[in-house]
Amino acid sequence: MINISIDGKPVSVQEGTTILDAAKQIHIDIPTLCYLKLEKMNYLNQVASCRVCVVEVEGRRNLAPACATPVHEGMKIITNSRRVLSSRRKNLELIISNHPFECLLCAKSTDCELQRMVWEFGINTQRFDGERSHHEIDKSSGALKRDPNKCIMCRRCETMCNEVQTVGALTAFGRGFSTVVSPAESMPVANSNCVYCGQCISVCPTAALTGVGYIHETWRALFDPKKTVVVQVAPAVRVAIGEEFGLPVGQDVTGRLVAGLRHLGFNAIFDTTFGADLTIIEEGKEIIERLESNQKLPILTSCCPGWINFLNYHFPNLNYMVSSCKSPQQMTGAITKTYYAEKMGINPEDIIVVSVMPCIAKKYEAALPGEETYGIRDVDYVITTRELAKMFKEGSVDLRHIQDEDFDNPLGKSSGAGVIFGGSGGVLEAALRTVYEKMTGNELKDVNFTAIRGMNGIREAEIKIGEREIKVAVISGLGNTRKVLEKIESGEAYYDIIEIMACPGGCVNGGGQPYAEEREEIIKMRIQGLYEIDRTKQVRKSHNNPAIQELYQSFLGEAGSQKAHEILHIHGLMVDKKKVVEEADFKIFNV
Ligand code: SF4
Ligand code: SF4
Ligand code: SF4
Repeated sequence: MINISIDGKPVSVQEGTTILDAAKQIHIDIPTLCYLKLEKMNYLNQVASCRVCVVEVEGRRNLAPACATPVHEGMKIITNSRRVLSSRRKNLELIISNHPFECLLCAKSTDCELQRMVWEFGINTQRFDGERSHHEIDKSSGALKRDPNKCIMCRRCETMCNEVQTVGALTAFGRGFSTVVSPAESMPVANSNCVYCGQCISVCPTAALTGVGYIHETWRALFDPKKTVVVQVAPAVRVAIGEEFGLPVGQDVTGRLVAGLRHLGFNAIFDTTFGADLTIIEEGKEIIERLESNQKLPILTSCCPGWINFLNYHFPNLNYMVSSCKSPQQMTGAITKTYYAEKMGINPEDIIVVSVMPCIAKKYEAALPGEETYGIRDVDYVITTRELAKMFKEGSVDLRHIQDEDFDNPLGKSSGAGVIFGGSGGVLEAALRTVYEKMTGNELKDVNFTAIRGMNGIREAEIKIGEREIKVAVISGLGNTRKVLEKIESGEAYYDIIEIMACPGGCVNGGGQPYAEEREEIIKMRIQGLYEIDRTKQVRKSHNNPAIQELYQSFLGEAGSQKAHEILHIHGLMVDKKKVVEEADFKIFNV
């Protein structure tokens, strides 16, 4: 232990502790802007670039950044001297001197860490007014929006993209005043190797990185009397959107969400968890076929487009292992424009499907070539949880004071298995509930596969199905995915089934979810919220969902039938990004 004093208070801390962490132990909160630590995700951004956390250290001439300075025996630290406070303020004033003052119009207004800090510091005049840098805004991908004019060079995004996700899509580019964080050579995001996991958005303190918005497109569709506008809601949205209205973290607001969507004027409100159940029927069939033939193992799940993009760039040789199932979003869209359209006698071209997703990769996915059925796009617009919260506020929906309503049929019924898709481990657990019963012919009494639940980025288990022990893994986060896939490639590891999600913790932590400060704790609570919904559902296995049974009986035939393949599967995953970008039908919109 090392003995130091902070603002005259003695404190003993372990060797290697930073001044910032030592101060926290005695409840002295030193402000930080560029610094960010997410322990469970192995994320640490400690570049000390903003200098907002500087402190005085006795015997040291220059002020020290608290986030990156380790303590030493006898250190005497002052965190609130006149010199410290005026230096912090000046550093912040210099940061904003090169920042556009457009808070009223900014997508991140009220959620911006820079805005909040300026307010907390009581800065209300612009002391340093001079030349500002001007950069093009990049919305080329239709998913990730870059506004380098709002970048404060904190490098949080780089750390996330390069070290946690190991994608390597972002780097500092340029010199001096014109330096920005961008894809290599300042190329448009659409031409880069970005996989649209959206994790950089979640850590960016300003609106330099956000999602491309589709709110205006959605309103326009809703006000078009010639269109039937159908909305689907992903599982992770229902345990997160309440946060935007001050409701407890992880609270299930499914019924209120449905009521709110009906109030906005959607003609039919469907549940993506229905698509999740459908995924399990189709993917379950693939799993059983591959286990029985011992071929193309491990089977890798395909419902996360961020992960699929990563696979296509970094491990294209393992493409053959991926399930050919479309994601639940795309399945729900495809069934809406075929089965539902036929049932209701509506021309599928007159249906607009809007998805509410926790994710920006889903925006990209919806526009991809191949994500269509009989020549019609499965999904037209994707809005995030944050965007829907804004639409609710604009459309006078207050989730605190609205009565529950039910989803519409026939795509509104789901099992608990479909609901847990929203958290890491849920897809595999849902698949096991069905695969077990289909393979053994026996009823699965305890549906809770607790061995694969939890927060670790890599989880493994051996599950007995009949006479067979199958080895499964659940991975979330792309750095973790890389580690496991490299072991599979080298023959060091073997599995039968692997669930992979690009976002650490799964979709509950998607790049389109409400911003969260205590992020890791919040992810846990959102996942718990999903398990609680599952626990109280009457139907907890996808194959027991009566709406799914009816769909097969009256429309699709057998699981894996030719018709099911035409509508619900995608073949030949794209590797050539440039080709994907050229062919994609991105709907770029100004928000
Ligand atoms: S969306 Fe993901 S892959 Fe793309 S730049 Fe951000 S962190 Fe990197
Ligand atoms: S884009 Fe955002 S996270 Fe990245 S360096 Fe700029 S301000 Fe920081
Ligand atoms: S884990 Fe979920 S939210 Fe994250 S990229 Fe994948 S599908 Fe989107």
